[in-house]
Amino acid sequence: MSEITGKTIAELRDGIRGGHFSAREVAEAYNAAVAAARLLNAYTVETPEDALAAADAADKARGSGELASLAGIPLGIKDLFATKGVNTTAGSKILKDFKPPYESTVTANLRKAGAGMLGKLNMDEFAMGSSNETSTYGPVISPWRRQGSNVGLTPGGSSGGSAAAVAASIAPGVTGTDTGGSIRQPASFVGISGIKPTYGRCSRWGIVSFASSLDQAGPMAKSVRDCAILLEAMAGFDPKDPTSLAAPVPKWEAGLSSDLRGKRVGIPKEYRIDGVPGEIDAHWEQGIEWLKDAGATPVEISLPHTKYALPTYYIIAPAEASSNLARYDGVRYGLREVPEGGNLDAMYAATRAEGFGAEVKRRIMIGTYVLSAGFYDAYFTKAQKVRALIKQDFRKAFERCDIILTPTAPSAAFGIGETTDPLAMYLNDVFAVPASLAGLPAMSVPGGLDGQGLPLGLHLIGNELDEQGVLNAGLAIEERAGFTARPERWW
Ligand code: GLN
Repeated sequence: MSEITGKTIAELRDGIRGGHFSAREVAEAYNAAVAAARLLNAYTVETPEDALAAADAADKARGSGELASLAGIPLGIKDLFATKGVNTTAGSKILKDFKPPYESTVTANLRKAGAGMLGKLNMDEFAMGSSNETSTYGPVISPWRRQGSNVGLTPGGSSGGSAAAVAASIAPGVTGTDTGGSIRQPASFVGISGIKPTYGRCSRWGIVSFASSLDQAGPMAKSVRDCAILLEAMAGFDPKDPTSLAAPVPKWEAGLSSDLRGKRVGIPKEYRIDGVPGEIDAHWEQGIEWLKDAGATPVEISLPHTKYALPTYYIIAPAEASSNLARYDGVRYGLREVPEGGNLDAMYAATRAEGFGAEVKRRIMIGTYVLSAGFYDAYFTKAQKVRALIKQDFRKAFERCDIILTPTAPSAAFGIGETTDPLAMYLNDVFAVPASLAGLPAMSVPGGLDGQGLPLGLHLIGNELDEQGVLNAGLAIEERAGFTARPERWW
């Protein structure tokens, strides 16, 4: 790791502004690091020229006045974000070679802030997964390894390439998306920070849709401050997204404070679930102690519908996905399979059979089943009602507390190929999904290592629009955890 790639975004920004190094030097260091880390399979496309062009623009602007907030900072972009003229495939064969003629609002915002792009990041197909094993490009390999073992581990998912890139210092920061945990669980697995803002903070325009009522973009980076800097650039009202929030974007970085005096931290008793390793519980206790040390008072809270969150998610998300994915028909985008002598229906069927992977097909089948005439009320309508109750749980809880602390995931990273049962895979998001269903901001920050030397994350859930509260509690943990562990380089 060069001196430059070891730095945070805040340090890079300040270094470029202060003339300690040029933006070109930063882009060159990262381009070289990306090219030297292909074994991780984190990037699906590399765009070194893009990073260099933004760097040169920043170096030029430095001489002539004000620099934008991310001037010359090169970022990795999850392959779910449409990037004009650059492959955008959502990790799926069905979008193979798709080059959008437009740019997503979030990446356009990052560009406006002066950022460049290092490349597109590998991910689970259509963001469905918790291990990055469903990608058409093959799994991402986590830079982390268990102590004394060289078994390949997953970086989590679906933003697995994003997580691995930050942990391996082949991007100082990245975009991720989170429908039911896909920013937070991978951040936890690789020892970095990641925040999913309130639903509607970041425009979904130009992000390939998975489950539209849940999908949110957010940043992943080495520090809480870096997440604040990135989120500030990504967020904002967008008339092109009808679910975009017409709320001003706060100055989250300037508002950072780890003084939590007077704050109440809710500890939900329903999150103490059977089968979770003792280490996860102990880590959670440690987190409570850190927040107390920062001045906060812990209070026990109840989120009684927590146990229904995962089944509710696995009805609503596939239902929306089955509808969103109906557009991949071989006519408008990407792959087209035309069987000899086949008619239009045969083309649809062949294209979808060939283009979608097993997990995506499973979700489409579950989704169409729960939406079918005979089962709609039993499953979909019921799930919507439970979702309303889950939201209500949080509303009541936030009358008694300001922030909620839980573990991010029920385990540390697992090995590639180790989790084959889909239900076991779905369990990864047991702590992450309730906040998604309620549309609340939530963040994972690294707290320490488990007995095998793998990172564990702590999870903070905030009230609607209170990203500042989430970031501040994250900062309080970050300062006390002093988490500086980095994977030893083997790639
Ligand atoms: N792992 C969850 C799923 O597979 C969440 C994915 C996500 O947040 N995109 O649906």
